[in-house]
Amino acid sequence: MYKAVIGLEFHCEMKSHTKVFSNAINGFSKLSNQLVAPLDMGFPGTLPVVNKTCVKKAIEMAMILNCKIPEYMEFDRKNYFYPDLPKGYQLTQFFNPVGVDGKVVIEVNGKEKEVLIHDIHLEEDSASLDHYYDTSNIDYNRSGVPLLELVTEPCLNSADEAIEFLEYIKRIYEYTDISDCDTKKGQIRADVNVSIMDNDSKELGTKVEVKNVNSFDSIRKTIEYEIERQSKLKSEGRYDEVVQETRRFDDETGTTIHMRSKADAIDYKYFTDPNIPKYKITNELLEEIKKNIPMLAHERKNKYISEYNLSEYDAKVLVKNKKVSDYFEECVRLGADAKSACNWITTKVLAEVNKSDEITIDDVFIRPSMIAELIKLIADKKITNNQGKEVFTKMLEEHLTPVEIVKKYNMEILEDDNLVNSLVDEVLSENEKAIEDYKNGRTNMLDYLVGQVMKKSRGKANPVDAKNKLLEKIK
Ligand code: ADP
Ligand code: MG
Repeated sequence: MYKAVIGLEFHCEMKSHTKVFSNAINGFSKLSNQLVAPLDMGFPGTLPVVNKTCVKKAIEMAMILNCKIPEYMEFDRKNYFYPDLPKGYQLTQFFNPVGVDGKVVIEVNGKEKEVLIHDIHLEEDSASLDHYYDTSNIDYNRSGVPLLELVTEPCLNSADEAIEFLEYIKRIYEYTDISDCDTKKGQIRADVNVSIMDNDSKELGTKVEVKNVNSFDSIRKTIEYEIERQSKLKSEGRYDEVVQETRRFDDETGTTIHMRSKADAIDYKYFTDPNIPKYKITNELLEEIKKNIPMLAHERKNKYISEYNLSEYDAKVLVKNKKVSDYFEECVRLGADAKSACNWITTKVLAEVNKSDEITIDDVFIRPSMIAELIKLIADKKITNNQGKEVFTKMLEEHLTPVEIVKKYNMEILEDDNLVNSLVDEVLSENEKAIEDYKNGRTNMLDYLVGQVMKKSRGKANPVDAKNKLLEKIK
């Protein structure tokens, strides 16, 4: 087997009110050409105005990735012609990206892995093209949408590492509210570079670039397919057939297909955009941004372990998705015991979420307030834990709150001591044989007797209470 080397160029559409250089809304529209300013169509006489929010968010991300940040914010023109690029150039950062030489440490299958970031830069998206039978539609909604492009060094060595890294980055984008990373809205795209080399070699192999892969699942398949394809050629002595080329991933076959060779590489004639004055990144600005970086996933995880005594495993499950973590924190804020809230969420609530790819925790009918209410009912011994599970199911079915369900089904635990006492007496008088067996050492008979009391109370007695009363009377 050979050693695989992977480098990623990960593009992600940012959240902002307006586009990165114009005042058109940065949003999602099912209709073409609704969110467009003249600048986004490259009209003569228009000038770009840099979106400060995007600049701040880009710097924030560069900080989180432990990058070096330049003195000035500048933008460069990447010149090429294509119908989706009306100006004839894309505004990007080529000479002075907002972050360079970063580093993060991630965990892959229980082992630490250091990932080196070559750079991260802020740029504008192009328009999008839809091709029909005899016409094509240019949709400028996407033209000028802010993009962050993160480029790694060739330092990843498996599909697992690449995906774990991307999940890590996606989580940061979500926790910082920089991007939703919504695949369905086409918010992420990656160029995946793959090469192989002999295990003991010092020199990197020939890389193949697979362009515009747009889901984590496809990225994994791309890497696995390329490693296999290149390894096969190499083991057959045909490594000269692995050439520097650009390929694309084909969803239907799960393979990659040749697009163009390195010989067709375009010279983009980069130069710094003269229409955008360079902008000094002051220490005050850096301080302000740093101060406002929210608690990230791993910090929340540590807090859950140290403050709430959750297990490492549970804490990880909760922070994996920001919405789930927010949901948990809301339960705790509303007074729920953290450990109980965690149990309900990781078992029951996530089971609902996982039933379909289409839904998130926000779509589940049961809200944090209801979880808090349910936990309180159990803590106050109004219902038993088992009844709690039944309440949960009924809440989903009937869209009612825990209190409403308990009322509707008359589930409250019997608090009437006299009544429970008389049920216990009844059970004792009807089960002389069982009592004798119990006294002769068959301790499980006690559970049987508790069961009988529960049955008579139609599940409403408190089993612990019933057990204590039985024990008292048997003596
Ligand atoms: P190019 O000049 O073709 O754009 P770069 O050196 O800028 O190539 O790298 C682009 C991307 O390709 C980076 O993400 C980098 O990590 C990755 N890369 C470079 N060399 C290799 C290689 N031999 N194997 C895998 N990935 C590589
Ligand atoms: Mg490149």
